[in-house]
Amino acid sequence: MKTGRVVKVSGPLVIAESMDEANLFDVVRVGEQRLIGEIIEMREDKASIQVYEETSGLGPGAPVISTGAPLSVELGPGLIESMFDGIQRPLDAIEKEAGDFITRGIDVPSLDRNRKWHFTPTLQIGEEVNPGDVIGVVKETSIIEQKIMIPYGIKGKLLSLQEGDYTVLDVIGEVETEKGKEKLTLMQKWPVRRGRPYKRKLNPIEPMVTGQRVIDTFFPVTKGGTACVPGPFGSGKTVVQHQLAKWADAQIVVYIGCGERGNEMTDVLNEFPELKDPKTGEPLMKRTVLIANTSNMPVAAREASIYTGITIAEYFRDMGYSVALMADSTSRWAEALREMSGRLEEMPGEEGYPAYLGSRLADFYERAGKVVCLGDDEREGALTAIGAVSPPGGDLSEPVTQATLRIVKVFWGLDSQLAYKRHFPSINWLNSYSLYVDRIGKWMDENVSEDWTELRIKAMALLQEEANLEEIVRLVGIDALSESDRLKLEVAKSLREDYLQQNAFNDVDTYASLIKQYKMLKLVLKFGEEAEKALKAGVYLKDILSLEIRDKIARSKYIDESNMNDIDDIWSNLTDEMDDLISKGGIIGA
Ligand code: ADP
Ligand code: MG
Repeated sequence: MKTGRVVKVSGPLVIAESMDEANLFDVVRVGEQRLIGEIIEMREDKASIQVYEETSGLGPGAPVISTGAPLSVELGPGLIESMFDGIQRPLDAIEKEAGDFITRGIDVPSLDRNRKWHFTPTLQIGEEVNPGDVIGVVKETSIIEQKIMIPYGIKGKLLSLQEGDYTVLDVIGEVETEKGKEKLTLMQKWPVRRGRPYKRKLNPIEPMVTGQRVIDTFFPVTKGGTACVPGPFGSGKTVVQHQLAKWADAQIVVYIGCGERGNEMTDVLNEFPELKDPKTGEPLMKRTVLIANTSNMPVAAREASIYTGITIAEYFRDMGYSVALMADSTSRWAEALREMSGRLEEMPGEEGYPAYLGSRLADFYERAGKVVCLGDDEREGALTAIGAVSPPGGDLSEPVTQATLRIVKVFWGLDSQLAYKRHFPSINWLNSYSLYVDRIGKWMDENVSEDWTELRIKAMALLQEEANLEEIVRLVGIDALSESDRLKLEVAKSLREDYLQQNAFNDVDTYASLIKQYKMLKLVLKFGEEAEKALKAGVYLKDILSLEIRDKIARSKYIDESNMNDIDDIWSNLTDEMDDLISKGGIIGA
């Protein structure tokens, strides 16, 4: 292909001429350093190129060569446990090549070319195959079996397929298609800006259990759903995302660190190999793919990191897995879009963000969902997408938050007031919402306990009532409240402190199963009911509030999953202690 020439360099934006043989969205190599870029606009023979690497030292006249292919990722064995940069270069290989900092223009394959994988066919030679059909498996990690699928666009009769140890490029079999023989390998490629195809979308109904009480109980997300976590600096977005990456009941986790501090990714890298999946007992890294485009890396690659991540997530969804994707933070990606748009001198929209901000975000979240995958076995896969949003100053009316809220179905609003009081997770229970709550409630009633929804509604109503009562207290003082209302405030406080607050850094409290959540919630509310009875029977509020059982309720979060009976014991103590109070101090007993 013809070589173009740089005419102008403006930060990550490079304009090149004589590019008439290239196409929009082609990947190009820029300058002697062969920097990696992507054509984002074509005007006659002039290409606007977004360069994914530092452009310092690049000047007019430098050569530009198109690779003739769009930005694509390599999909195959070796993805799990890897850490990639925004354009899917494995960070460890880059470091080996370049020392501690990333040199530019480096060519390292995304998937290891030397490593061999054992492939076991699951199809017979002679069968008709279509895109998405599973032809065999590779045991990628101790818990993940990668299904090897017929790539999109290949259709015909399976001519050969051999069990054996292969690199990702070795030929494992052949298909006789209308256009001739096609070779099959363990690896396939996919252009990142295009969603991977599936048969049809399904309505997601099953919760993605996160082990975080405020989320699962009040604002749950489905497997295949979308959620956002907006919050000001320091309110706990990253901790929420890390908690989900650790504990969400997804089979595969794709974690994208986008434009945030690098040490947060290092934390993930150090922590995950040591953390064990509660279900399999295996290290969490064995189901995790990390994409890091941290704040010290080029801004333009932020967008690529988002697309790279979601394409990898779709690939595992296509195998029939349930995949969870976290992106921290989508605001940094939006800022990169704004910077590029500014340099392209496009007509700016709100606050300088490009007019297409909303549609870009929508395109991203629309790639989530529960689907029937391509392939003859009608397998179902799910991709849940959860994006952190960092509104400057926590102002939710800014464009990125607003555009996100128009698309996603769950809003976990982090609150600086709560974070300041060290109430974590600082998800504000009064303004957060989940549009899946009815569907999931039904699932919970059927699968956890039939009174799940009832408890949830009671708890929510109590918190709302608390807000109203507090308003009254603010206006006329606590003395204006009846004992019954004061009791309500106490129970609401217990709900907040003993139930909703959850310490991510406590070994036991960090994760609560649905059963534990149910038992804890029921206990807190039961105290309220029993106390109300005692009040009515004439017991003094102060005597109720000084019951020892309250301490036990407060500490129930530290009861290990293996000792759930201990919560039942508190429950029976509660009724005993309360009956005791009534017989001693109540009017009936006196
Ligand atoms: P953000 O990403 O919104 O800037 P972080 O997620 O880094 O904020 O959280 C800031 C700090 O808040 C954390 O370092 C931690 O001390 C505290 N924190 C947040 N969530 C929790 C939690 N669930 N449990 C305990 N501490 C938390
Ligand atoms: Mg953060």
